[in-house]
Amino acid sequence: MINLLTPDAYVGSIFNITPDRLKSNGIYGLILDIDNTLVATHVRAADKKVLHFISDMNAQGIKTIVVSNGRKERVELFCRPLGIEYVYKALKPLGRGFDIAIEKLKLPENQIAIIGDQLFTDVLGGRLKGIHTILIKPIDLDEPFLIKIKRIFEKPFLTNKQYKDKF
Ligand SMILES: [Mg+2]
Repeated sequence: MINLLTPDAYVGSIFNITPDRLKSNGIYGLILDIDNTLVATHVRAADKKVLHFISDMNAQGIKTIVVSNGRKERVELFCRPLGIEYVYKALKPLGRGFDIAIEKLKLPENQIAIIGDQLFTDVLGGRLKGIHTILIKPIDLDEPFLIKIKRIFEKPFLTNKQYKDKF
């Protein structure tokens, strides 16, 4: 159980992750979470930072797709302006959303990483699929009630973990 909840890397922010570092770890595809990974949960649209992150990754040969547990409208509204493929209501940590994403990325599992902010959805789900897992610090802890509860259970697994400034 501990191992399934241990990501390959802890990084302070998704924007500190560089294409070079991913490639040096053999990663050529990213499965991206939205809420509290790319933007705060209450933010509806992507900002320039997100746009730049995704276009830079793509330009450097890293494929990207969004896999979110969010509702259709939330995920569509966010992803369409970015021109990025997406899976909504993915039910992470269950496999369906990951399976769709892996198929669309057309890469072997060992060349794909999930980047997300939650241990019990993003990291656990990625671990179960055998892809790389990068946990980032949530952008804003003003979150829906049920997620706040999950954070309490995450805590024991996260104490004394060092989050890298750069990846
Ligand atoms: Mg999230």
